[in-house]
Amino acid sequence: KHEEALAARSKDNLRSPICCILGHVDTGKTKLLDKIRQTNVQEGEAGGITQQIGATYFPVEAIKQKTEVVNQDGSLEFNVPGLLVIDTPGHESFTNLRSRGSSLCNIAILVVDIMHGLEPQTIESIRLLRGRKTPFIVALNKIDRLYGWKEVPNNGFEDSLAKQSKAVQNEFKDRLAQTKLAFAEQSLNAELFHENKNMSKFVSLVPTSAHTGEGIPDMLKLLITLTQQRMAEKLMYLSELECTVLEVKVIEGLGTTIDVVLSNGVLREGDRIVLCGLNGAIATTVRALLTPQPLRELRVKSNYVHHKEVKAALGVKIAANDLENAIAGSRLLVVGPDDDEEDLCEEVMSDLEGLLNKVEKS
Ligand code: GDP
Repeated sequence: KHEEALAARSKDNLRSPICCILGHVDTGKTKLLDKIRQTNVQEGEAGGITQQIGATYFPVEAIKQKTEVVNQDGSLEFNVPGLLVIDTPGHESFTNLRSRGSSLCNIAILVVDIMHGLEPQTIESIRLLRGRKTPFIVALNKIDRLYGWKEVPNNGFEDSLAKQSKAVQNEFKDRLAQTKLAFAEQSLNAELFHENKNMSKFVSLVPTSAHTGEGIPDMLKLLITLTQQRMAEKLMYLSELECTVLEVKVIEGLGTTIDVVLSNGVLREGDRIVLCGLNGAIATTVRALLTPQPLRELRVKSNYVHHKEVKAALGVKIAANDLENAIAGSRLLVVGPDDDEEDLCEEVMSDLEGLLNKVEKS
């Protein structure tokens, strides 16, 4: 059995890590996401970046391109097929993205406004991330607001800082020192990313601007480095199914659907699935697996692309009967040939108490 598992570890079986964005309101979470989604104008193509249900998928080629400016020596090697970034930043999606106390997010970006420092929801985010033992980096955003900042669009941070006046460099130094102090008050040791010698001991601070794109190459490079360093090897391969309901939505023509994040494994049309419902477990059959139609093809009648089979990690909409009482945050299980459906129903329902009691204490 073990050998079988090893043999299955071909490059085709790699799965992408999942990344969440957290932070205080107005720190620039949405803007940062927009900026990394933004594509190279000259290329005219999205480089394979795809909009999914509740998430955006960045294939490794797109990330390579976006990190090129800070990886000219090629020292960063890419071992993941891509990165799935959850679109709805904030606590709600993070707390829904979990399975029995551990987070399905493999990595997170905590966004802090460099002009404001740590704010109440920053502290709350830190608490959540620690509770779930999720590795994270800090984007120290809005560096373009440092007084007198001269922008070099989409540049690496170190080079951009070197090009600033002494006054700007000094303001940056001061704000960095204040931020480190504020993190220390939360018992977190934080270091500027390129001065961080031990990523498992110190949180990396990466200065960014969602407006100018500066520091974003560094942020992506850091995400990949940290994920590859910290993700247990087994997580990198498609294995056991891990799937979570993010939202329950009524869609015209489809009825009640569920938006799920498939964080590991494979889902197929026709699969028998089991999930939590308000009036007991729901057992139903996948009628359709749907992702949004690419923008270029808006002329196509349907809003969705149908899939016979989808592989982790991705966000996908499931159409099926009897989903009216489905509960967001529920685990979703697939009934395999050797499984007893009743047993699986009991298993998912054992999560219910935790789901209804959303205010978690960690
Ligand atoms: P969210 O609430 O964390 O998602 O924050 P938003 O992405 O909606 O940004 C809040 C406001 O800050 C908006 O007006 C953005 O244009 C602005 N903003 C976000 N990032 C930056 C940045 O890097 N520099 C500057 N100058 N403004 C930013």
